[in-house]
Amino acid sequence: MATIFSRIAAGEIPSYKVAEDDRFFAFLDINPVAPGHVLVIPKHEESYIFNLDDEEYAAFTLFAKRVAAALEKAMPCKRIGVCVIGLEVPHAHIHLVPLNSEADMDFRKPKLTLPDEQMKEIASRIAAEFK
Ligand code: 5GP
Repeated sequence: MATIFSRIAAGEIPSYKVAEDDRFFAFLDINPVAPGHVLVIPKHEESYIFNLDDEEYAAFTLFAKRVAAALEKAMPCKRIGVCVIGLEVPHAHIHLVPLNSEADMDFRKPKLTLPDEQMKEIASRIAAEFK
């Protein structure tokens, strides 16, 4: 059965998309740890990031780097934090989070639920910066 993230990349489930190419897809985390929290995924279904072959892993992280550059321009922050957890959704993904303090990347804190309009506005700002 397709993972929820495969279904998002295929457009079967709506998402706040920020970037896409033929192999990778980036969208806002539905329950962000900080505003602008982005998930980057390969369209190819693989549950564990470190099972990707070397070529796909390298291309994936380079795509995430381009998304991080767009995120940094779109969201006021000191740095973009990056992490891989993957305990919840069994589809490889990289978390990118705009950071103003280390606490912004504390996944133990209650997650945010932002209004639809704000999510749309953040996604379109990031998408506009993606090169
Ligand atoms: P992890 O697997 O890295 O522990 O966490 C998965 C992340 O995916 C969580 O931060 C969660 O909020 C996010 N997530 C889970 N389901 C959905 C979904 O259907 N749409 C979006 N946009 N994010 C999701």
